[in-house]
Amino acid sequence: MNDIIVAISTALSKGAISIVRLSGNGCIELVNSCFKGKDLTKVNSHTINYGHIIFEDKIIDEVLVSIMKSPKTYTTEDIVEINCHGGIATTNKILEIMILKGARLAEAGEFTKRAYLNGRIDLIKAEAVMDIINSKTEKSREISINQLEGRLSNIIRNFREDLLKLLANIEVNIDYPEYEDAEVITIENIRQQVEIMRNSLNNIVKESLSRKIIKEGINVAIIGKPNVGKSSILNKLLGENKAIVTDIAGTTRDIVEGSITLNGIAINFIDTAGIRDTVDVVEKFGVEKSIEQMNRADLVVFVLNNNELLSIEEKKIIDKLKDKKYIVVINKKDLKNNLDLSEVELKNVIYTDTVSIDGIESLKNKIIEMFNLEEIEENNCDIFTNVRQITLAKDALNILNDVEKGIELNMPVDMIEIDIKQIWTKLGDILGENYSEELIDQLFSQFCLGK
Ligand code: GDP
Repeated sequence: MNDIIVAISTALSKGAISIVRLSGNGCIELVNSCFKGKDLTKVNSHTINYGHIIFEDKIIDEVLVSIMKSPKTYTTEDIVEINCHGGIATTNKILEIMILKGARLAEAGEFTKRAYLNGRIDLIKAEAVMDIINSKTEKSREISINQLEGRLSNIIRNFREDLLKLLANIEVNIDYPEYEDAEVITIENIRQQVEIMRNSLNNIVKESLSRKIIKEGINVAIIGKPNVGKSSILNKLLGENKAIVTDIAGTTRDIVEGSITLNGIAINFIDTAGIRDTVDVVEKFGVEKSIEQMNRADLVVFVLNNNELLSIEEKKIIDKLKDKKYIVVINKKDLKNNLDLSEVELKNVIYTDTVSIDGIESLKNKIIEMFNLEEIEENNCDIFTNVRQITLAKDALNILNDVEKGIELNMPVDMIEIDIKQIWTKLGDILGENYSEELIDQLFSQFCLGK
């Protein structure tokens, strides 16, 4: 793994200075072999050295070469940075020479990947490097630099340490009940600790999700069988005639998208014409397709017709709703009630009609209420910043909930111990301990070259 990698670390365009960067065992010798100036193999670490890059007896450029010796470097390996004159031709020429001398062109993010694989940074910090580069706002820059400084990593590490102590205590209590020095761990102790951890992790996840909402908005899928009024509702929400409304079932064939803002947050509606079978003249209500749409959305708005009986397909969708954030909209409340919901269990039910204004307002208010849009704040910087981190944290939270339930149900302590070990592993995954090569490759490939 420690072969010499090289890349242009600055943007390749006309500019005063460019940096060609190398990392790996032997990179100092490699650069020295085409450098005229001091003997770079003998200079002190972390020095900048003036000289020239020479190739086939010709001066290629006047340069400043930074020498950074292992282990106190970005990758923990020897690193050389050649500060050359900017511009495409010179920088490319120096890169080419380094490759001819035996270095390999680095993959995207490979320097940071080495820093991670060599144990200098964890995955949260590696991702923070990428986030800093991609930051467009002052706030996201601030969050990323905090992560690089290790604030979030430390919080996760502390959680893990607490779990480890708890596990150790449980083990001693199970294996050596006669051992008097060991702190006696009661189920109540475990419950308290688990509760504290769940609350703090839950707060971070909640903050992280609202940040995601601030950044990306909420994606809403409006689903329901043809003719219940989905397009009409969307039109009313958007305040324009984007989706074509007819009383012939299923005339809206294109996926119509539109956004509104509620309390400053983008609500992106996807009119799910895609759920309809576009071959049939009278289109079918596709349960599978609806479920696909549901899975892609942050919120499902399931529309039913107040005037009609509940269909088998609609019952199937209702079964699936409980795994999602959803609102059930019973539309056409102006018409006679024929819909009977007594046999199904539903929350977040609202009645609307598209003929009056108040029906649609109640839908908007429900969205505001469900996503706490009135309370979204932008203060805390210690949050998870990507789907990978949030998903793992949510997994850990779910297991923490299981532990609490297990305690309530008087589960044996060794079962609870298994769950606690799992939480410890999940939190370790957030930091990038025990990670698959494939995932790491995929993750670092999103970096820029030379980082
Ligand atoms: P979609 O197929 O689910 O998108 O349904 P549409 O929005 O195309 O509406 C189908 C028909 O129901 C149209 O004729 C609408 O005018 C009508 N409609 C929609 N909402 C209401 C409502 O609240 N009350 C009544 N009476 N008719 C409605």
